[in-house]
Amino acid sequence: MIIDLKHIFVTDNSVLPIMDALDLSDLEYMGEYPLKKPVEIVGKITNKASLVRLEAEIKFEFDASCDRCGTRTAKKHTLKVEKSLAPTIEGEDSDTILTVPDMKLDLDELLYTETVTNLPMKHLCDENCKGICQKCGKNLNEGECGCNKKEIDPRLQALADLLN
Ligand SMILES: [Zn+2]
Ligand SMILES: [Zn+2]
Repeated sequence: MIIDLKHIFVTDNSVLPIMDALDLSDLEYMGEYPLKKPVEIVGKITNKASLVRLEAEIKFEFDASCDRCGTRTAKKHTLKVEKSLAPTIEGEDSDTILTVPDMKLDLDELLYTETVTNLPMKHLCDENCKGICQKCGKNLNEGECGCNKKEIDPRLQALADLLN
């Protein structure tokens, strides 16, 4: 969806609501396709004293295997997006400034870029997920397996703690 921002740029104190959805179900991430439902953006573009800003929220559901136990888990995420819009073709995009050549904003592209660069690094079925036993492979959320955990190499344990 391309949004023409000419009116916003030339009109002080104007507001333009924005809304879009994008199907990213074919996006592969860590060997899975976690975005089964369309990702959504809702927000507004405002001109206050000739400063044009975009404020929006992106919502998506991340549906993939738990990093520790492998159980498929869906989790909702919300990203806040706040950017100043600059109508120049010379500037470069940054974290805070988004250039909109010809005063046109490609909302699909923004939604895609922001979502893909902010996909979760960590995905757990539960913050307290116990994972699977390194020895027998049992899902420890379903109960203890009886293996002796004390034999785990302390260096590996330190690494595991770090990753968690
Ligand atoms: Zn888990
Ligand atoms: Zn075990």
